[in-house]
Amino acid sequence: MQKKTDIGLIGLAVMGENLALNMESRGWNVSVYNRTVPGIEEGVVDRFVAGRAKGKNIQGYTEIADFVASIKAPRKIMMMVRAGSPVDQLMEQLFPHLSTGDILIDGGNSNFEDTERRVKLAESKGFRFVGAGVSGGEEGALNGAAIMPGGTKSAWEEVKPVLQSIAAKAKDGMPCCDWVGPGGSGHFVKMIHNGIEYGDMQLISESYWVLRNLLGLSNEELSKVFSKWNEGRLSSYLIEITANILKHKDKDGEYLIDKILDTAGQKGTGKWSVINAMELGMPLGLIASAVFERSLSSNKEVRVEASKLFHEDKEKSLYNKADMIEDVESALYASKLVSYAQGFAVLQKASDEFNWDLNLASIARMWREGCIIRSVFLNDIAAAFEAEDKPKHLLFAPYFKAEIEQMLFGWKHLVSHALKEEMPIPAFSSALNYFYSLTSSSLPANMIQAQRDYFGAHTFERVDQPRGEFFHENWTGHG
Ligand code: NAP
Repeated sequence: MQKKTDIGLIGLAVMGENLALNMESRGWNVSVYNRTVPGIEEGVVDRFVAGRAKGKNIQGYTEIADFVASIKAPRKIMMMVRAGSPVDQLMEQLFPHLSTGDILIDGGNSNFEDTERRVKLAESKGFRFVGAGVSGGEEGALNGAAIMPGGTKSAWEEVKPVLQSIAAKAKDGMPCCDWVGPGGSGHFVKMIHNGIEYGDMQLISESYWVLRNLLGLSNEELSKVFSKWNEGRLSSYLIEITANILKHKDKDGEYLIDKILDTAGQKGTGKWSVINAMELGMPLGLIASAVFERSLSSNKEVRVEASKLFHEDKEKSLYNKADMIEDVESALYASKLVSYAQGFAVLQKASDEFNWDLNLASIARMWREGCIIRSVFLNDIAAAFEAEDKPKHLLFAPYFKAEIEQMLFGWKHLVSHALKEEMPIPAFSSALNYFYSLTSSSLPANMIQAQRDYFGAHTFERVDQPRGEFFHENWTGHG
């Protein structure tokens, strides 16, 4: 009889295969299982065991009962299958074979509300459930990912050694994996991570576009600008790959970036972030602008038609080259700061609303390596949230307040110039508008309240009366 293994893994697609190999390389014995369905690719398990897993402490199973029985109790079973109904189907198949206290870990990109429901369902049957957001794609899965686990708290001590061993390590040696909180909090945090990723990518794209079109920089020059930025406060994985993408040549020696169709795809986690922020009544405008811009980009035919109808050829106004590069860097950094401030504010609101007790500094630290948004900047965010005098809002932290003050002139100059030059910069301008609204003690919402009361008797509060007292006006004088 084969020795019982430390952990089971279900779903041998890109993520599952690499996570299994990562676990094995850290000294864990792993059982793997993939469904075998006629008509869908068969022999997945055999191919993996005889191929990449050959000679390794990985045992393959094609029957779910044998797979479950091969794992040490209490069992830890990680599911890396397509998000949505496959996870529910798999849980139903697993339940009859599990014992009290066994732990299911869903490492897919599940919706946090599904995870809330699954935690309750598993617990009602005496099992434990961990919804773990995993970021870092194929490479992260194999060599170290950022992992955000939440769910049944008592499972943490048991899954911690495995999950932290396969997680990326920050420069200070800390694993990019720590307990997030109860229910679906792990997947909620992963969702906001993905939303922030949408924002970062949009901001980088706008920077590229402004420098390319208003300054006429070549791809080589642009690559050098991004490489230089990668040595400073913007240092991050996405800036690094942007520099690489810009200098990458196609087989014919031409730059590949110029041949890629400008229609962006999306899988939905950006959209989920925005929907949930709206549900919580929180502004997440920068990520929303990034999601909407991807939608607009995908409608190429309409854009081509509109471009013929409305654009006029005119002289470009002057902007010193070095100044523009510096101002785009300021706009990029300041807007990124706004985006993270918005994202973390949504996390705080969700934490209050769902009683998750999220540790924002710990979340920032988990994102420092292994994931797509990894950057040096997350160290500063973690430090801001760890300060004795915890800021009410990220932009209030003394360090970031000073950064904004230093960047504001270049940021607004660049935004107003780019808009005058008819450059689409939805994320840059959304960030600046948010900053102006946030820092305005008065907003025209008094007019909105008056209109709501006028047509719908929705009432309003008055500046000359205590908060919480509501008034209605007979605006038309009619009885
Ligand atoms: P995927 O394409 O999302 O899913 C394929 C896997 O799901 C296959 O093993 C497939 O089995 C299995 N599956 C589908 N329907 C099933 C069902 N009804 N019952 C049992 N198994 C079923 O694979 P992936 O890209 O490796 O991603 C796995 C999870 O990680 C997903 O939730 C994904 O969103 C998440 N994720 C992916 C990435 C990435 O970069 N790819 C990064 C982070 C997180 P068959 O082989 O039999 O079809």
